[in-house]
Amino acid sequence: MQSAPERAAIEIGGIVQGVGFRPFVYRLANRLGLSGWVRNTGEGVQIEVEGDAAAIEEFRLAVRDEAPPLAVIYQLRAQPIPAAGATGFAIVESARSTAGGEVSPDCDVCDDCLAELFDPDNRRHGYPFINCTNCGPRYSIITGIPYDRPATTMAGFAMCDDCLAEYHDPGNRRFHAQPNACPVCGPHLSLLEPSGAPVCGDALKLALEALSQGKIVAVKGVGGYHLAVDAGNQAAVERLRQRKRRDEKPFAMLAADLEMVRRHAHCSELEGRLLLGVERPIVLMRKLAGSSISDLVAPGNGWFGFMLPGNPLQHLLARGHGAPLVMTSGNLSDEPIAYRDGEALEMLSGIADLFLTHDREIHTRTDDSVLRLYRGEPLFLRRSRGYVPRAVQLPAEQASVLAVGGELKATLCLTRGDRAFMSQHIGDLKNAATLASLEQSASDLQSLLEITPALVAHDLHPDYLSTHYATALGLPAVGVQHHHAHMASCMAENGLEGEVIGVILDGTGYGTDGTTWGGEFLVGGYSRFERHAHFAPLRLPGGDAAVKEPYRMALSALYSLHGDRLFDQPPAVLSEVAQADRPLFLKMLEKGINSPLTSSCGRLFDAVSALIGVRSRISYEGQAAIELEALAEQGGEVEPYPCQVREEWGHVLDFAPAIAAICADLARGRSRADIARAFHRTVARGVLDVCRRLREETGYVRVVLSGGVFQNRLLTEEVAELLAGDAFQVYCHRLVPPNDGGLALGQAAIAGTMQARG
Ligand SMILES: [Zn+2]
Ligand SMILES: [Zn+2]
Ligand SMILES: [Zn+2]
Repeated sequence: MQSAPERAAIEIGGIVQGVGFRPFVYRLANRLGLSGWVRNTGEGVQIEVEGDAAAIEEFRLAVRDEAPPLAVIYQLRAQPIPAAGATGFAIVESARSTAGGEVSPDCDVCDDCLAELFDPDNRRHGYPFINCTNCGPRYSIITGIPYDRPATTMAGFAMCDDCLAEYHDPGNRRFHAQPNACPVCGPHLSLLEPSGAPVCGDALKLALEALSQGKIVAVKGVGGYHLAVDAGNQAAVERLRQRKRRDEKPFAMLAADLEMVRRHAHCSELEGRLLLGVERPIVLMRKLAGSSISDLVAPGNGWFGFMLPGNPLQHLLARGHGAPLVMTSGNLSDEPIAYRDGEALEMLSGIADLFLTHDREIHTRTDDSVLRLYRGEPLFLRRSRGYVPRAVQLPAEQASVLAVGGELKATLCLTRGDRAFMSQHIGDLKNAATLASLEQSASDLQSLLEITPALVAHDLHPDYLSTHYATALGLPAVGVQHHHAHMASCMAENGLEGEVIGVILDGTGYGTDGTTWGGEFLVGGYSRFERHAHFAPLRLPGGDAAVKEPYRMALSALYSLHGDRLFDQPPAVLSEVAQADRPLFLKMLEKGINSPLTSSCGRLFDAVSALIGVRSRISYEGQAAIELEALAEQGGEVEPYPCQVREEWGHVLDFAPAIAAICADLARGRSRADIARAFHRTVARGVLDVCRRLREETGYVRVVLSGGVFQNRLLTEEVAELLAGDAFQVYCHRLVPPNDGGLALGQAAIAGTMQARG
């Protein structure tokens, strides 16, 4: 017996915007056969569902239980309302819309399309461009608005009669699915030699054969080219490393399903849900002992980065190969990911043996997103494909700002009303190619989102390419101090107003005094800040060379203890400097020749990493600290080392006593893992000490944690636990990365607020 339909109004408060909540609700309602709608409101998300009473009840429970991993539901209220007799479920315009549409991120294949993809009787069996209204590429193929087929890179493919019939049928899953296509009318795969010459035969089958033979295949994905190779084939992975000239930076991998992931990595329930999310990010998970994956995939690193297929072609490849594939960005180190066919052939022909490509153009390149968990919460290391350009909600409406970020891990931010749209990952702005990509992204995002910025925000660093770009735009420009931007970024995504204590542990940032900062305790809000405390500065012997060669920082730290008796000390790291070079090295430190001072927390981690023999030279940013963290994970329950808070102009947190104690431990032969662990605890304890003093001075109990060092899971957990255990309210990043990839959000919030105050 069919009961009369019921209807419920549901209101949800919490972090439910910018996390993929509306598409999730849309899919859930469709799965349960419910009609109605969902929309964003000022407070959160509002839903009305209508249908069978049992299905509504199931919906209510599932909204909480199956919510996207980045969502946090504080409050869920449901009440019955009269049925309206509507059919279909829709995502409707936001209640407090500030004009202008939003563009959907690229989305993985839905279950219905996936079933068709592997159904031999379906007309799209094995067709790598299958999609429907609920899934498929979006942001990467949109060339303009409104989002209709002519404004996508599908414009050149005329739908066949079958596809057109689906497209015009309101009851069909492909009703108005703009990228709708089939083998008759849509894009096709092809296999190319590095010369560009086509290889005859079944492109997919031949590519799979090549992969099983250990060949390197460049694969055109949704946001750009990847380089694929069998992850279990040591020689093949080694060849890829050599050709890519990417010495040790970990490669991400593609697995067919969770089961395959779990044969190689510890994958918790939440990590599994992140992997399975429609955004299909790379998730870092602890390596499983005895995995058959080549140790060259992630050398010296306790973690594997896995993703599950994010488009039909990846599903076909992953299932066809039957074992994990390395799936790393198709670029030369430091250059943006290749996404145009000609350019990809040119750039990658020295690396790839074959190119698996197709004739659907990528309009906007987007790298894969990368996440890891800490304290059971997701943390972005890179927010890009799948999440971009979802909006992050700002605490208040503000003038439209274009914020251009810093130098590393560049992203842009554009604001409209109380929405902040972060761009995809653009890369390190150290070359013309990345700068061109930044300029392109800025103009594309402005036209796509119909935003004309009233002002531009940039880093204070006078030499950053992004700063030059911003100040040449002819808009009113706001220079924002690097660590103030980090602090504001964390405040903004947590919806904080007023003033807070900002603990910003970072690599490098230009200080208001012209020196390099990086271990900072700021007090303030969007419109102002004061530097209340910082790490004791160390010399950076050789400037940039000290960033690439952490042993220089170890020597600098030892110099701060022993002065000109530096080379009489026992630590093995001293042998990094040849006898003949020692007088010169000492002179650099004594006189500060090409050895600027820095309060950087990242450099302190480098120093300790080199001091205890983990890493003296790095081949990618952050490597010394990442490997130190991996070692510390193996340490036992240890006491922190002493550190000291000196009262100078503000508080200075000095780790010299810890360095001395580490040297004594080294001489004594203490386990390096325990030393590394104790050092992590020392930094956390030092942070707590300083925060207590700042609380006494200011009365503030809210602490935001930001900066690249907070990618370190172990440190973040210890800092957050110590602070929370001492009655501080601790706020971390959840929607944007703590590293410089999140900087633009803070710049935008600061510039918007300052403008409002005149
Ligand atoms: Zn679909
Ligand atoms: Zn067709
Ligand atoms: Zn930074």
